[in-house]
Amino acid sequence: MMHTFSRRRFLQLAGMASAVSVLPRAFGAASPARVVVVGGGFGGATVAKYLRMWGGDKVAVTLVDPNPSHIACILSNLVVTGALTMDRITLGYNALKEKRGVKVQQGRVIAINYGSGTVSLSDGTALAYDHLVLSPGIDFVPPPEGPWDPNVTPHAWQAGPQTLLLKQQLASMRDRDTFVMTVPKSPYRCPPGPYERACVVADYLKRKKLIFAKVVVLDANPSIQAEPVAFGEAFNFIYKGMIEYVPNAAVTAVNSTTRSIQTSAGDWSNVRVLNYIPNQRAAAIGPASSLNRGWPVLNAQGFVPVDPLTYGISGYPNVHVIGDACAVPASEGKAVPKSGHMANAEAKVCADAILRSLNGESPDKNITTNSACFSPITATIGSWLSANFNYGDIYDAAGKVKGKGMHRVDLGEAPRTNGDNYQDMFTWAEGLFADSFV
Ligand SMILES: Cc1cc2nc3c(=O)[nH]c(=O)nc-3n(C[C@H](O)[C@H](O)[C@H](O)COP(=O)(O)OP(=O)(O)OC[C@H]3O[C@@H](n4cnc5c(N)ncnc54)[C@H](O)[C@@H]3O)c2cc1C
Repeated sequence: MMHTFSRRRFLQLAGMASAVSVLPRAFGAASPARVVVVGGGFGGATVAKYLRMWGGDKVAVTLVDPNPSHIACILSNLVVTGALTMDRITLGYNALKEKRGVKVQQGRVIAINYGSGTVSLSDGTALAYDHLVLSPGIDFVPPPEGPWDPNVTPHAWQAGPQTLLLKQQLASMRDRDTFVMTVPKSPYRCPPGPYERACVVADYLKRKKLIFAKVVVLDANPSIQAEPVAFGEAFNFIYKGMIEYVPNAAVTAVNSTTRSIQTSAGDWSNVRVLNYIPNQRAAAIGPASSLNRGWPVLNAQGFVPVDPLTYGISGYPNVHVIGDACAVPASEGKAVPKSGHMANAEAKVCADAILRSLNGESPDKNITTNSACFSPITATIGSWLSANFNYGDIYDAAGKVKGKGMHRVDLGEAPRTNGDNYQDMFTWAEGLFADSFV
């Protein structure tokens, strides 16, 4: 389910290629093809692993990330409530280095020279590439008015110190206090994530017997964006009177100093915890002042349009973007979700396309990708959502073919929230962590 391509299938194809004596261009060269991967999260770690696993010594992979390990957002809402500790979501790079032979370089990419095929790191190092894969995740769009400071009012939408700050602030809540949080305008990282957070925060307050404390969910969208049945039931029954859900609440100002927020649906002032999760866009890959923040092209929502057969950027066939930063062409109303599971699937498609290209072959067109998100609803029960996509025709709102892309062929939701789903969440997460980082 998680594997877009089996290794066996890949090797069969590789075997066919050698049987007809197709001499790979870069694979035939004396030195291995150089692939630089920027970002060691779910997309970057997976593509680095699979390039080495499928390409062997014919490909030299350097993975660049500013941090010595990756802290996963997945399960991080349970760190906020104290149900899990940070070590459970901290994923190291040792297996990629030792087992897969990936060179891991700690550093931040500050510029890409697409003409000469090099990336520049903040320490002055330059790395040359034959193929470049970018998986830097997301950045935040500041609110229209401030003063906004995420170190005072955390978003906790990139895991790490932000997660711990929100945990600390939640732990400081007393009865009759209010926790105000926002849901960004779609598309954003992890569609069910904000609603899941509202549930586990309310559950935490309930278990602490703070029964007059409130959670206000200010949604910039007109309705719940994922698992409306499960979260609708949770808001209306399990947490009735405790969670207040406010749709169409576009944020107009955030004051981190006074912990106040203004929206098109009303204002909240001097709240105990303000968990403002801003609207999102592709993480910058160049200076903030540079054109498109370093990207050759961005769509209107600030993400990078890609070809779903290779994850290449139009006009830059050896530069690939995967994970939350990319925008995959899809049918209207059936967007490809920004999830770790999806980043992992896209990484495998991208790795296969790069190896085929180095082999002088065209990309495979028989592609499927998928995504899963498991959400805790209380400390013991959970829900899930899954979606599958096939490459082919994609459709506009009127049902007319508008081009090629990843068409969603099914969308599954847990028929009911229960304890099995909660337990399955850990099995699924551990599987995804291992498939990406080990
Ligand atoms: C609360 C929450 C719950 C979630 N739950 C789920 C879930 O149940 N299922 C699921 O599938 N997904 C879930 N997600 C979403 C998932 O975490 C993301 O979709 C996933 O991490 C995206 O992978 P990525 O590789 O695009 O980005 P990331 O995993 O964020 O990795 C980006 C990496 O790039 C690095 N980087 C950034 N800029 C640079 C640079 N200039 N130079 C070098 N490195 C750089 C960063 O340090 C980071 O390590 C959840 C997210 C949240 C916030």
